[in-house]
Amino acid sequence: MNFFKNVSIKTRLWLIMCSMALMMLVGGGVGLVGIVMADKALDAAYKDSLEPTKMISRIMLLMGENRAQVMLWLQHNTENYSSEMHDDNPLTTHIATIVKNRDEITALVAEYKKRNMTAEEQELADKYAAARALYVSEGLIPAVAALQVADYQKANEILLQKINPYYETANVQATALLQKILDTAKTKYKNAEERYTLIRNAVIGSTLLGIVLVTIAATLLIRSIMRPLNRAVGHFKDIAEGNLNEIIKVSGKDEIGQVLNALAAMQGKLKIIIDELDHLASTDKLTGSWNRRRLEETVRNEMDRLKRYDHPLSLMVLDIDFFKTVNDRYGHSVGDQVLVELAAQIRSSLRTSDSLTRWGGEEFVVLCPNTTLSTAALLAERLREKIASANFPGVGNITVSVGVAECISGETWEQWFHRADEALYRAKSGGRNQVQIAPETPNRIGVGENVAANFVQLVWHKSYESGNEVIDREHQGLFNDANELLAAILSGRPVDEVEILVDTLIRDVVKHFQDEEAILAAAGYPGIAEHAAIHRELVDGAAILVGKFHAGTLGIGELFNFLAHDVVTKHMLGSDREFFPYLESRH
Ligand code: GH3
Ligand code: MG
Ligand code: MG
Repeated sequence: MNFFKNVSIKTRLWLIMCSMALMMLVGGGVGLVGIVMADKALDAAYKDSLEPTKMISRIMLLMGENRAQVMLWLQHNTENYSSEMHDDNPLTTHIATIVKNRDEITALVAEYKKRNMTAEEQELADKYAAARALYVSEGLIPAVAALQVADYQKANEILLQKINPYYETANVQATALLQKILDTAKTKYKNAEERYTLIRNAVIGSTLLGIVLVTIAATLLIRSIMRPLNRAVGHFKDIAEGNLNEIIKVSGKDEIGQVLNALAAMQGKLKIIIDELDHLASTDKLTGSWNRRRLEETVRNEMDRLKRYDHPLSLMVLDIDFFKTVNDRYGHSVGDQVLVELAAQIRSSLRTSDSLTRWGGEEFVVLCPNTTLSTAALLAERLREKIASANFPGVGNITVSVGVAECISGETWEQWFHRADEALYRAKSGGRNQVQIAPETPNRIGVGENVAANFVQLVWHKSYESGNEVIDREHQGLFNDANELLAAILSGRPVDEVEILVDTLIRDVVKHFQDEEAILAAAGYPGIAEHAAIHRELVDGAAILVGKFHAGTLGIGELFNFLAHDVVTKHMLGSDREFFPYLESRH
């Protein structure tokens, strides 16, 4: 069948038509020749039997007539009582008739001898000739001679003793010869008939064979067209159903091969176009990040994986702080450039499995598959720092606030996103340029499992400055201690490492309280006694909690919350503010 593949369908059809015509021609020709042959054979059988039998019968008739002429001649004998009844024909009539008959017999015999005879017929013919010769030489000729001299007595004797018996003998031989000729003819007829049957069967056979061959050829032809055609139809259906990934095998150069070739090219092109369209439909034009549609598609898959394999899955929502001001100050197109640059900055910090989506306006979402909350929080913190310290052309520094949430198994995408959004809101209301972690954290974060909801990296702001160099430096140092402790907790560092950081923080707090009290005393701050009492209270409280923590009866979460929140942040931003106006160097 492969032979056909590279032959055009037109040529295939012509080939089949021609071979069919040829087969018909051969079948018809064989039939025609056979019929002519059979006709000739039957004709020959007929002639072979008819002609010689006619001749022999004629010869017998003529011989009989000659015998009769002799008898009639005998009646010329006047002594014969019946002579009066005899006709008046002169004697010459009898002689002439006999001569004429003899000539005709001679001619017939000569004609007969021309026949193609079988050996058996030849033998019988020879015997017949011998009997005839005897009849002529010993019968007819001596009788005619006796009659010519009117020796009727002798002629009569010859008639009775020679002519009659020899005639009888010749007759018997003739009958035998005739029988032989008929037998031969019969055999020939039978042979001809057999040949005719053979030819008829051959014609029928060749016709049937022709039909079978034509049917096979037609089947092969149809198959050679229909199979690839059906394949092409299947591919068309696949493409119509939007399945562009089926491999289109092109295995021939015929018209269907060309169709398949064109189809394969079309499918390839379609795939490229669809990929491009898909990319366009799922990408944010300005920043090249994913758009919401793409994120929501991916998120559902990732959430399925979470359900099936219990892989952690986290996300962060980033929002530029005071972006409106950027637009107002530098114009919308500069704002656009900031968005482009920001997306690039974020992307360069992400792992390959993370994805960046522009959620809308100046808000971005980073999806972190296989990532726990603590890792996502660290990643978010690193991002925040990187952005805060980057230089945005034409604008300078910008900051972002970030909300982080890990997906809890069983919650919906909307619920999960809402938690991250709430964390972002807290980051905004908590002073911006910071990371907030969503509450209801799952158990997976290990050491950090007790970390309170409002655990955040502490970010130094200019507004926190007291104006006293030592106090401000120590305040910032405490921020760093707290941040380091948080990072250690969130990244699941070993307990002894965490303990060292706790101790460092406590030590720095105690030292800072001493330094601060000395500075306040020097500055003549009237509330020094109360402030020192608050310091003592905090240090005592911390000592108790640290003791409990070391004893294993207090979670690191609660301890951190107290140290970072009550001791560092709250005190510094609350009670400490009361003495700020008394520090001379502030203005
Ligand atoms: P906040 O810290 O509370 O987030 O303050 P904000 O000014 O960033 O937030 P707000 O929602 O008030 O303003 C967001 C601004 O972002 C308003 C809008 O002009 C700007 N913005 C949104 N989309 C685009 C954008 O595609 N290009 C530019 N240049 N600005 C945009
Ligand atoms: Mg916004
Ligand atoms: Mg904003």
